[in-house]
Amino acid sequence: MVRFTVLGSGSSGNCAVISTGRTTLLLDAGLSAKQICLRMQEAGYDPEGLDGILITHEHQDHTRGLAVFGAKRRVPLLCTALTREVLERDAGLRVAPPWQVMQTGSRFAFGDLWVESFPVPHDAVDPVGYVIEDAESRLGVLSDVGYVTNLIRDRLTGADSLFIEANYCQHLLEADVKRPWATKQRIASRHGHLSNDQAAELISHLAHPRLQHVMLGHLSDDCNRPDTARQCIQHALLAGGAARARVWCAERRRVSPTLEVAFPPDSPQPPAQPEKRAVARPLAEPQQLGLF
Ligand SMILES: [Zn+2]
Ligand SMILES: [Zn+2]
Repeated sequence: MVRFTVLGSGSSGNCAVISTGRTTLLLDAGLSAKQICLRMQEAGYDPEGLDGILITHEHQDHTRGLAVFGAKRRVPLLCTALTREVLERDAGLRVAPPWQVMQTGSRFAFGDLWVESFPVPHDAVDPVGYVIEDAESRLGVLSDVGYVTNLIRDRLTGADSLFIEANYCQHLLEADVKRPWATKQRIASRHGHLSNDQAAELISHLAHPRLQHVMLGHLSDDCNRPDTARQCIQHALLAGGAARARVWCAERRRVSPTLEVAFPPDSPQPPAQPEKRAVARPLAEPQQLGLF
């Protein structure tokens, strides 16, 4: 069973742990190395037991801790070729990590996990979202993203749990006086971030009776409120027939609870609901990672 713990999420830093117990991945490393270690330990993970670091894109709030954290541990750094190029140039990596470069859109085995990436629109060189699964559970990860494409919807379909961005409330962003107009335009643009309403729209497509958790991430401090975001998503879940799903908001400064991605296989079946759309996709053969 895959479990995940958000160590922190927001524009000041994003980092989460995804683990089966046998394989443990860090998803982004946007906190300081010290905070990554402290928060991993707080959540019951051993920072020395990490198997790899999976990167969504090169922005600082997702990679800030790489230089120091990675230098001490030399665990594989998994990202696309373009993201690797930028990180090599800009991330201040003191020691070359063992890179594992993936093709955007590929699916590969990593320990007892399967990892599939998919492209997302955001103002980075090659930003991706992920579907991470084992034999029992499927976690969809989406952050940061300007708008939801058909491909994103398709890839996240059938996820048992979702970790997705709900960056801003449209009304609060419009009313915000701290940010210049150009910054607000960038946030709301098609290569910026996802609003609560956009996240809710996506969730209404992805809702199904066995959806277990929706963890919302990257909430803006000034332009969003956890309660507002939660309510927005809760409505979409209920409308979509996912009455058992729980909604959480990841915090910046605190570790979130560790969540099991799927209901235990022997848990009672939820009440039958008419299927809204086909869930399963045929599984492609694993693609071997190119090692560079
Ligand atoms: Zn970003
Ligand atoms: Zn970000």
